[in-house]
Amino acid sequence: MNLSKKPEILIIGGGVVGLSIARELRKRSAGRITILERGAIGREASYAAAGMLAPQAETDETDDFFHLCNESNKLYPGFAEELLAETGVSIELDRRGTLYLALTDDDVRQIRHRLAWQRRAGLNVEHLSANEARKLEPFISPDVREALFFPNDWQVENRKLLAALRKYAEINDIQIIENTEVKSLLIENKRVIGAATGGEKFAAGTVVLAIGAWTSLIKADGLTMPFVKPIRGQILYYRTAKRLFGTVIYSPRGYLVPRLDGRILAGATVEDVGFDKSVTADGIDFLRENALEIAPSLVNLEPSESWAGLRPRAADGLPILGAFPEIENLFIATAHYRNGILLAPLTAKILADAIAGNVESKYAKIFSPRRFLYAKAF
Ligand SMILES: Cc1cc2nc3c(=O)[nH]c(=O)nc-3n(C[C@H](O)[C@H](O)[C@H](O)COP(=O)(O)OP(=O)(O)OC[C@H]3O[C@@H](n4cnc5c(N)ncnc54)[C@H](O)[C@@H]3O)c2cc1C
Repeated sequence: MNLSKKPEILIIGGGVVGLSIARELRKRSAGRITILERGAIGREASYAAAGMLAPQAETDETDDFFHLCNESNKLYPGFAEELLAETGVSIELDRRGTLYLALTDDDVRQIRHRLAWQRRAGLNVEHLSANEARKLEPFISPDVREALFFPNDWQVENRKLLAALRKYAEINDIQIIENTEVKSLLIENKRVIGAATGGEKFAAGTVVLAIGAWTSLIKADGLTMPFVKPIRGQILYYRTAKRLFGTVIYSPRGYLVPRLDGRILAGATVEDVGFDKSVTADGIDFLRENALEIAPSLVNLEPSESWAGLRPRAADGLPILGAFPEIENLFIATAHYRNGILLAPLTAKILADAIAGNVESKYAKIFSPRRFLYAKAF
């Protein structure tokens, strides 16, 4: 085989997941690392995201997925501090908490159910009256009936996080190759030996697949690739002269994320429409309606910008993490669906443990691609 490049570790996909794994591997001196990225680094789902770190708002029970989210969230203060020291880039970790509003009878039932399981689990959650919620956030709707406050659900500026991770790669000798789409994995005797683009082959001792919504498009002989679907999310933002909100604010239908610079992100649609990243008029109407339900005073503002991204979702809605059982030295980290920003630091540690430490963490067992070996695509 004519091999043009010979990294020891090849990471395919330069989103938040691939970049975070590269950093964690470098910190463990794991050898030469190359990231192959189809387009530009960090311009897909990770760029489109809202940056909420919200285990208590995003999960429905204290199952393994909740623990994964919660543990990853706890890593964020250290992650943010380290990245600042390593790169000089602040990722704007904002720990003012998250408010979850009830505006209808159904919402009240829903948030009380959430309150009950979270209290049973000993989580930090406060039940607020409408007045208490308005004291915290004066611009929320007069129709708010009651609310939950999660002091430990935070937000981060995900585009700054991507910039920090890229800078880390650049100053730590992690090779980044953009505009290079991997078409297939090279496998010999049940062992991965590299990856191929249309015209080029890259040899590697270890390969990590971190290609998000595009996971199922990669070809690999003798491998059952887990099925991962793109789920479109449209999002928009308003620009305000002064910051209107302190916390992230959810309703059961949408959310507002106030950024430090005065932007307010309003998200997000959840659409099963294939690899189509268009922003639609219906999508914008939906987002505006939900934003105005939370904060009617936004009515006179026109959205400044809107975009869409593709969340990677597995058949069971859960992440896929760790080693492929049937192919040696091949690893995967994908299907983070709605929580890939939140899950990036712990995903990186789980993968680095498996690759550099040869240790399968409990989460790599639970969220292993093994579970799809005999399953059919949905
Ligand atoms: C609107 C929206 C809001 C969201 N809000 C949040 C939030 O508030 N909090 C949160 O935690 N998560 C959120 N998410 C989810 C989060 O964005 C994703 O889970 C996360 O970005 C997935 O990261 P990734 O690195 O796996 O994927 P991506 O960022 O999509 O990166 C995958 C990379 O692989 C590259 N690639 C694909 N195929 C190939 C190939 N064959 N060869 C080489 N490279 C390839 C792509 O070009 C891409 O750069 C949101 C998502 C959307 C769309």
